[in-house]
Amino acid sequence: MKIYLETMGCQMNRLDSELVAGALRSAGHEMVSDADSAEAVLYNTCSVRLHAEQKVLSRLGADGKRKADGRLRIIGVLGCMTQRMGEVLLQQCPQVDLLCSPGRLGELPGLLSAAAGGEPAVALDAPRTQPPDATAESALDRLDLSRDPAATPNPRQAFVRVMRGCDKFCTYCVVPHVRGPERSRRPEDVVEEVRRLADAGRSEITLLGQRVNSYRYEHNGREVRLAELIERVSDVPGVRRLRFITSHPSDFSDDILFAMRDLPNVCEYLHIPAQSGSDAVLRRMNRGYTRAEYDALIDRAGDIVPDIAIAGDFIVGFPGETEDDHAASAELIRRSGYKNSFVFKYSPRPGTQAARRLADDVPAEVKTRRIGELLAVQEEVGLAHHRRYVGGRVEVLVEGVSPRADRQPTPPPVGQVQLTGRTRGDHVVVFDGPAVLAGEYVQVDVLDADARTLFASREP
Ligand code: SF4
Repeated sequence: MKIYLETMGCQMNRLDSELVAGALRSAGHEMVSDADSAEAVLYNTCSVRLHAEQKVLSRLGADGKRKADGRLRIIGVLGCMTQRMGEVLLQQCPQVDLLCSPGRLGELPGLLSAAAGGEPAVALDAPRTQPPDATAESALDRLDLSRDPAATPNPRQAFVRVMRGCDKFCTYCVVPHVRGPERSRRPEDVVEEVRRLADAGRSEITLLGQRVNSYRYEHNGREVRLAELIERVSDVPGVRRLRFITSHPSDFSDDILFAMRDLPNVCEYLHIPAQSGSDAVLRRMNRGYTRAEYDALIDRAGDIVPDIAIAGDFIVGFPGETEDDHAASAELIRRSGYKNSFVFKYSPRPGTQAARRLADDVPAEVKTRRIGELLAVQEEVGLAHHRRYVGGRVEVLVEGVSPRADRQPTPPPVGQVQLTGRTRGDHVVVFDGPAVLAGEYVQVDVLDADARTLFASREP
């Protein structure tokens, strides 16, 4: 069957889609990039923000018309939205044939066959209060372990899941509700997966977890935590760059920073969302740390790994956020010197504590103003951060031709194109060079910078 698979949301979802596409190909299906030519459309959905869910509902409406015209056979919804809405989604959208929650993705090929045969095709996770379903868990493990190492979207980069779920229950977040309790993978399985990816040329590996620093695998009374896992993965021949995302500010032990400092292939990059600079807001968010603890962590990170590049996340307009709370977030951005920050407006998500108990009382126009103000501060801070690299030399993994051809002051010389790539610290670099450099590691000299990009040149 020809299948179109579209992915919304985070890197975890993109990895799920990559693995699911591989499993569907192995089952004899053809993945197509054009929804109009597909016999089945699948959406791997995100529930973290309202906008992402609205986008899926609008797509489902259009797909319903195509199905009624006989141009489409199967419509399926995968991922977080299926678990959040459950069979209500089928009542709202009766054109949908298949539902598969994140914890049941290992069963997708079978569900698709069932849907093609006109049978019910619904696989949802049991509530997290019940013990995990062993069959579903082992199907999920197989999905990771049976991936085709040569089928990553990028020939040099690969993402590797080290854990699933989240136990943190930040009051605004649906993830613990839709992705279930934290389960860490066996370190041996992670290392084996990385080994196969590295053998296939994937030299830049990113370990993934919703709260990756809470990785914890116990066997025979011995516990493996993230720092040890990083060390084991960094030993795999062919791994030239190793990162891990996303970190949570609580339970972040210094041994992770020492691993970053001491292991040459562990990149000096940390994505560590603060969400707010105000203790009162952090408490209402149930983030589990204070502003002073966050500041102390950022200070330790800078002391132990002086070249570290840190990315942050913020939510503006969380219930009860005052102008003083907002000013504390702006001040935190300045103090932390982030490379970049992801800033989002709060929107209540059904099923979360915040949606149940806290009034969404910051007006929309105030949220819009605050997001603009935080982004403006980040722009200043990002510029200062990037300018630190001007005059120095950095290693870039070349990703390909820059999507914007006008990033350098002059057009590329004949025979060259404007290339883009990333440093170990995840900085975007633009420079001129031959297109054949795509996928190579090169050294470039940084000539200039703006708040998000380093502009460089390369000696031929
Ligand atoms: S740590 Fe908080 S924000 Fe992150 S996934 Fe878990 S509940 Fe959501």
